[in-house]
Amino acid sequence: MFFAGTGGSVPGPRRGLPAILVRRGADRLLFDCGEGTQRQLVRSVGLADLDSVFLTHFHADHWLGLPGMLKSFALREREQPLTIYGPPGLRDLMEQARFIYGRLPYELSVAELQATEAVERDGYRVAAIPVNHHRGHAFGYALVEDARPGHLDPELAERLGVTPGPDFGRLQRGETVNGVTPEQVMGEIREGRKIVISGDTSPCEALRIAAHEADVLVHEATFTEEDAPRARETGHSTARQAAELAREAQVRMLALVHLSIRHSASDCKAQARAVFPAAQVPRDFDTIEVPFPERGPPQLVRWSERERGAGESGVGVENGGQVDAPNGDGTAGADMEPVAPR
Ligand SMILES: [Zn+2]
Ligand SMILES: [Zn+2]
Repeated sequence: MFFAGTGGSVPGPRRGLPAILVRRGADRLLFDCGEGTQRQLVRSVGLADLDSVFLTHFHADHWLGLPGMLKSFALREREQPLTIYGPPGLRDLMEQARFIYGRLPYELSVAELQATEAVERDGYRVAAIPVNHHRGHAFGYALVEDARPGHLDPELAERLGVTPGPDFGRLQRGETVNGVTPEQVMGEIREGRKIVISGDTSPCEALRIAAHEADVLVHEATFTEEDAPRARETGHSTARQAAELAREAQVRMLALVHLSIRHSASDCKAQARAVFPAAQVPRDFDTIEVPFPERGPPQLVRWSERERGAGESGVGVENGGQVDAPNGDGTAGADMEPVAPR
């Protein structure tokens, strides 16, 4: 999960508007596309050939970067089709934005999702979670992988009379071979990975259920606890509320995003960690690597570490986890006009 923009409402000096790029195998999914997202991507991992964009809702800070990005894809002579998913109202929005992006040389599909509807992909699905944000529809998204079959025990299978080779494959696909059933020789089914992205929301029961035992919950934290009444009025969450939800849902890692320029990231982190120690506050361009559960916990990889690692060894992703440099958290912009959160 690559964080292209971790701010909310208005961009700050260090935090762009919401956009998270999820890379899974060859798939490239973008969740939200705030103004400036393509520039953020070009400056970091490159303007990936996305196959899908999922919008959480239609406040401008979450989608205004999309028309420009569609246009850039056109100028780059993209041919690969692209699908935009979002809540009801998406078709109108995209129709109105058409005068900006014009005719495209690639196929653009627009798919309005209903609450709880899931997009089925190869090996996983992305489900829309209805969240509590404003009068219109607003979604969070849960990316849930299919469960994986257990490991085949080759010695046991041979002992029971199955010959190594194609018959092992048949067992792994669920067939019975020479009277030996898969249950006899296969270990337990292993859960796939799950990541949940809240979008903008006040604390939300549907989200808590969807996030149950997720590997990573990316949750908005527009306010610190002092502004809890404002959070309630505007349909947002405090860092502490996000942490409480993470604790109740028993997620493995909480990543706070949609940070306001009015609050410091270190305050958000401290308030969240008081409730849920595995809370992180990614900065723009940070990555969270999400391994299969049996290969260890999710890891926050700082962009600075990744850059340094890349300079030294050409890889550098592996050695950067858990690094939590003290700089860069002072994003509260005292000289900026307070703005209403969107
Ligand atoms: Zn927002
Ligand atoms: Zn909003």
